Amino acid sequence: MSEEANPFESLQEQIDDAAAFLDATPDVLERLKHPERVLEANLTVEMDDGSIEVFKAFRSQYNGDRGPYKGGIRYHPGVTRDEVKALSGWMVFKCAAVNIPYGGGKGGIVINPVEYSMSELERITRSYAKELRPIIGEDRDIPAPDVNTGRREMNWIKDTYETLENTTEPGVITGKAIESGGSEGRVEATGRSVMLVAREAFAYLGRDIADATVAVQGYGNAGSVAARLIDDLGADVVAVSDSSGAIHDPEGLDVEAAKAFKRETGSVTGFEGAVEEFSNEELLTMDVDLLIPAALENAIDGDLARDVSADVIVEAANGPLTPEADDVLTERDVAVFPDILANAGGVTVSYFEWVQNRQRFYWPESKVNDELERIITDAFDELVSVYERNETPNFRTAMYVVAIRRVLQAAEEGGIWP
Ligand code: NAD
Repeated sequence: MSEEANPFESLQEQIDDAAAFLDATPDVLERLKHPERVLEANLTVEMDDGSIEVFKAFRSQYNGDRGPYKGGIRYHPGVTRDEVKALSGWMVFKCAAVNIPYGGGKGGIVINPVEYSMSELERITRSYAKELRPIIGEDRDIPAPDVNTGRREMNWIKDTYETLENTTEPGVITGKAIESGGSEGRVEATGRSVMLVAREAFAYLGRDIADATVAVQGYGNAGSVAARLIDDLGADVVAVSDSSGAIHDPEGLDVEAAKAFKRETGSVTGFEGAVEEFSNEELLTMDVDLLIPAALENAIDGDLARDVSADVIVEAANGPLTPEADDVLTERDVAVFPDILANAGGVTVSYFEWVQNRQRFYWPESKVNDELERIITDAFDELVSVYERNETPNFRTAMYVVAIRRVLQAAEEGGIWP
């Protein structure tokens, strides 16, 4: 996370930007600018050598007006209370944007997981699950994977919770392995929603995505799946990158071969199918039709935004533009389709996983993909209709207007407990 933009302040600014288009009083909006509660825990865990280490951990439950809190768990040395609060707030508006019946939450442990053995990570995760136990549950708060966590950690949390509660409740967590109650299609879901939003965006703008050139920053789960599915639509993915640098072929890269190369070697650079290599900064300012930031927060700041050449951006990462970059790109008429819609495929298929867990009845992948497409295209249609009706300055503000309205309506119907 770069130091210039505090993500929690960015979230509050995004709510303020939408406020001008909402019929809501400042006191009502003030409530949406803060989490309902944040758990802060100090996990005391025995290491393999018998020593003791203490890890700071958080879980923010931002807003539960529309349903149980929902959101991932991040393991990263840069995790802070403000980052967790911001990410939990973005989850509220993401779930409301695609109209799935959840509130928003997020958790994190301040840790660099590569420094610990698997058995240490298991004890750390189970200690965290013990702290979470009183506040999570399939009708209370449903965690999921985020940066540096995956099926393995989700399975440990589920097992700890179920053991302590003496029950079976797979819907307490999503992103599980298939054999432990996971859903078909979950791994590809985020990249798939990025592709669907790109496809709808080009159709809305009156352009043919099959003629588009595309650059993808970050070739991990979200970025590489989005690249493959957009390539399948006939577009040319001309550049992709990861933390090692960017690779380029003006005729279009073989995205599958580049992914296989990264799987083998750990990075995209060195891929023999590329014509040249350059820096990530050069990728972000390349002259392409569509730019997909799919790495980390704050990838594009105000200065870089002035040099962006793409005229459409679809955000796969959470918060890849600083508020200043957003202002610059709005001013320059670059069409930015926001993260809370574009990467909502992940949480939407988590929702399907939870539905399947509760019904104890599992769907084939084709049904998962069809339902995901319906939810994302409905949300896209709602976005453009609010954008046109309200004449918001950009698509992000229009999406926040849709999402905040839904949260406020649920809050109003519930009333205020004295
Ligand atoms: P990942 O770890 O699989 O991939 C991240 C990729 O970004 C890696 O290839 C890494 O090398 C690259 N990267 C890191 N720093 C970079 C830099 N400075 N420049 C270029 N590349 C860089 O992670 P992911 O799951 O694909 O998540 C990526 C983003 O998408 C994150 O912001 C995450 O919050 C968001 N997201 C992911 C999901 C999901 O289901 N995977 C859902 C919603 C949002």
